[in-house]
Amino acid sequence: KVKTGLAQMLKGGVIMDVVTAEQAIIAEKAGACAVMALEKIPADMRKSGQVCRMSDPKMIKEIMAAVSIPVMAKVRIGHFVEAQILEALEVDYIDESEVLTPANWTKHIEKDTFGVPFVCGAKDLGEALRRINEGAAMIRTKGEAGTGDISEAVKHISKIRKEIADYKILLGDETALQIKAAELRVPVELLKTTLENGKLPVVNFAAGGVATPADAALLMQLGCEGIFVGSGIFKSSNPEKLARAIVEATTHYSDAAKLLEVSSDLGDLMGGVSIESIKGSRLAEIGV
Ligand code: PLP
Repeated sequence: KVKTGLAQMLKGGVIMDVVTAEQAIIAEKAGACAVMALEKIPADMRKSGQVCRMSDPKMIKEIMAAVSIPVMAKVRIGHFVEAQILEALEVDYIDESEVLTPANWTKHIEKDTFGVPFVCGAKDLGEALRRINEGAAMIRTKGEAGTGDISEAVKHISKIRKEIADYKILLGDETALQIKAAELRVPVELLKTTLENGKLPVVNFAAGGVATPADAALLMQLGCEGIFVGSGIFKSSNPEKLARAIVEATTHYSDAAKLLEVSSDLGDLMGGVSIESIKGSRLAEIGV
């Protein structure tokens, strides 16, 4: 039931947010494994305060025509008609994303009714397994998009990994497993498989707040299987160089000499906003 094909191919790669065909070409040349086509990058969405919807299909189509790597695009949480439209456009992947304004605050899209694969955000194991149970083929940390602050993404991957390790003790105790599955609101078989394998049954990427090669390598060392970079790259003074550096850092994430090399002389990085300075609700907490 789980659609893992393309996600397995993207594993170990970097998926970059792009708002124009020109940016998509830069991303492809830098070695991105896919691009996320959108109208505004999260740092700008965060500032706008407006309703953020699916991007214009015309713009997504231009990006699809400009590159040969897979193209992803975002729909609002619960907006299954935006997903129908993007499936008709034949995008390679749909991100049901908290970065856009949710269309439904209590119910996500039933993703297993679609042919196109979906990626969804998660902050903990229960959320990840609920999305997988709805049909998500890939999970990403929610992080805190648009901030350039890595701490939320670190928190989310650490929590998912810790819960998987902690609940392992429940294996063999059917009643305890049933209780935990009910608490997480997921089928017991899905929880069991995850605990037996010691990992989610789909690819788990990092997203939200990645701004440097070191950020990407940090999340890979913490157990992520690939990276989404949004605001970081095209908010920096030398996007080509930074994009390539983040790809290199994701590939060679435990090679300190390589990380030193690619972290040097990158120009001005995205300024960012620290988590502590954010007043009001965080994107990662929307709807919870
Ligand atoms: N994340 C976002 C952005 C939401 O809007 C919602 C609510 O639908 C959730 C998570 C909650 O989903 P769940 O309760 O299945 O984790």
